[in-house]
Amino acid sequence: ISAKELTELILKRMKNVESKVGAYVYINDENAVSFAEEVDNRIHAGEILSDLVGIPMSLKDNICTEGIFTTCASKILENFIPPYNATVTKMLYEQKSILLGKTNMDEFAMGSSTETSVFKATKNPWDLERVPGGSSGGSAAAVAAGEAFFSLGSDTGGSIRQPASFCGIVGLKPTYGLVSRYGLIAYASSLDQIGPLTKDVEDCALVLNAIVGHDNMDSTSVSFKGVDYKKALINDVEGLKIGILKEYFEEGVDEDIKKAIFDSLKLFESMGAIVEEVSLPHTEYALSAYYIIASSECSSNLARFDGIRYGYRAKNYDSLKDLFIKTRTEGFGEEVKRRIMLGTFSLSLGYYDAYYQKALKVRTLIKQDFEKAFKNFDVLIAPTTPSVAFKIGEKINDPLGMYMSDVCTVPINMAGLPAISIPCGFKDGLPIGLQIIGKHFDESTILRVAYTFE
Ligand code: GLN
Repeated sequence: ISAKELTELILKRMKNVESKVGAYVYINDENAVSFAEEVDNRIHAGEILSDLVGIPMSLKDNICTEGIFTTCASKILENFIPPYNATVTKMLYEQKSILLGKTNMDEFAMGSSTETSVFKATKNPWDLERVPGGSSGGSAAAVAAGEAFFSLGSDTGGSIRQPASFCGIVGLKPTYGLVSRYGLIAYASSLDQIGPLTKDVEDCALVLNAIVGHDNMDSTSVSFKGVDYKKALINDVEGLKIGILKEYFEEGVDEDIKKAIFDSLKLFESMGAIVEEVSLPHTEYALSAYYIIASSECSSNLARFDGIRYGYRAKNYDSLKDLFIKTRTEGFGEEVKRRIMLGTFSLSLGYYDAYYQKALKVRTLIKQDFEKAFKNFDVLIAPTTPSVAFKIGEKINDPLGMYMSDVCTVPINMAGLPAISIPCGFKDGLPIGLQIIGKHFDESTILRVAYTFE
């Protein structure tokens, strides 16, 4: 099959399902077909070959695409067309992957359900009354509904893994620094990472291969060369030490999810892995500390949206200050404003020590918990989410309830570790996710464990 045929096929499928699922905020149909044609010509000329050549994919709408809308699903960026590509966009274009469009998300990646998008709520393809998770819910729904072969999302506190889990697909958050964040519109810079959402573990390795690499444009990007993640796809966990994270099975986690994870662990044991429980005593503080740190960083990162440089500008104003205030009041949604307020408060004189500084200390304790655990284990296992996909509207007016859905994923971002979510069962027809956490830069071992399970 040619790249053009493949692209046309998937665009046809999108015509049928997109009105139900609503995974995309922008569809790049004409460009995609002409780009695919160009790719076919070059393949015929014997020119290009890569694992992802001619493969149609999508990008979360906070990843910059030159000449193509990048809105963060926010009114404040609704007309923003970036003048440059994110490094990951450039890398996928170099591989000759075909961009089908930009996927829906929670506004500025703040949320766990894709309901805070200014455009629309994306539906979970497994049950259209339920959320696909978030914030990369559009990316996960697109892959699950066959509207893209793979997608890139961003994960600050779980936004790749949680929607992957809700939509029954594979989602990987790489080690902090492994994938360039240049051109990813920042939410919380010390936690954000870009990563793949794919149908299976093999695709995950191929996409990871394509986006890893040092980038001078991102000062936190590391030089980590020479790993071919395809080589990690071995069907064997013999002798590997797997830790079960004790605190991740405590209150609030659904019994069926616990059971599915324990059944998976039995399978690993039967294949020769050594499975033992391990305790990370500071886990209970992770969620609160995360929301202080993420909000603080976002209050600073989002200061640039002032109505002057780009994006939305309020129509009627009396002074410069009035312009700032009206633009931001009209341009940002409720959840984004809540975070900016919370972050500004935590960073303000008199509260900095009590909140922000304290949260940083908790972050260090969490990191140390993981470091200790990794002295004895190769990978750690936990549920990805405490529940399966919830109903649209169920948590949108309950911010704390919504924040709780990240309880199993945020500690991993706080520690900068890599983790993958893979499907491991169902509850009432809805997918359950198994989370495998690895040592820094040891994506290979988590891919190996995931591949063996699959
Ligand atoms: N749901 C979490 C939050 O709202 C995580 C979001 C993310 O990873 N981008 O902060």
